[in-house]
Amino acid sequence: MADEQMRQATVGDVVRVVHRRYDPATAEDWDTVGLICGDPDLPVRSVLLAVDATAQSVDEALERGVELLLVHHPLLLRPVSSVAAVEPAGRLIHRLIVGGCALLAAHTNADSAADGVSQVLAELLGVDISAPVIPSHSDSRIGLGRIGDLVEPTTLSEFADKVYDELPLTAHGLRIAGDLQRVVSRVAVCGGSGSDLLADAARLGADVVVTADLKHHNAGDFLAAHDVALIDVSHWASEWPWLSRAARLIETDLAADGFQVKAHVSTIVSDPWTARR
Ligand SMILES: [Zn+2]
Repeated sequence: MADEQMRQATVGDVVRVVHRRYDPATAEDWDTVGLICGDPDLPVRSVLLAVDATAQSVDEALERGVELLLVHHPLLLRPVSSVAAVEPAGRLIHRLIVGGCALLAAHTNADSAADGVSQVLAELLGVDISAPVIPSHSDSRIGLGRIGDLVEPTTLSEFADKVYDELPLTAHGLRIAGDLQRVVSRVAVCGGSGSDLLADAARLGADVVVTADLKHHNAGDFLAAHDVALIDVSHWASEWPWLSRAARLIETDLAADGFQVKAHVSTIVSDPWTARR
């Protein structure tokens, strides 16, 4: 479609396109996804994608002059009775509203989806995906995590090097549990906190699981019960690669609907850990 035929997209148009890819009905019951602030009727020329709504990502959104910030983690996951600008989340909401920028979250609806967080992570790590680790009740092609085989079996050491090379750099780095010389072929991944799906990954024959937020007891108990290696990565780094995919899909889906919108990806590292000794 030629530029002059393009129409002006609104916040509502962007929300509709995002929800077509990442259906809110597929979000977990406890999750709060969708528009957090913003007027659906206001125009959008460009959007910024970030893992977290933080002071830094809001700075970037307002400096770039985008009209919508799409984040992975909901800013208000727990119910609140006030968004006064006296708490961090309230201050961000005020800055966004004053700055004319809507805030939209795609969280567990973006985890489970095709072209979602775990699918993008698995593809990045060279996994030929066969299925979700925990399929959704409604559609077995989507769900939590992804499992599949590497094109070439390799050692845990070499696979960990690939994970390190492919993910964005963080102070967290990655932690490996297992014999570095063991051969790994079947890989399970879960972007974000994946400790709840370790047992399912083992049942499906994973040689190694790549996820984030593994704790002493769940990792230790799992390793005692299963001959499966673990790679614990930064939560932020495991989800960030999805942003580029989502940005491209939002641009192409909106263009197909006759809207020209530019989607930028924030490179701000919002992993909370800033140094390692
Ligand atoms: Zn997350």
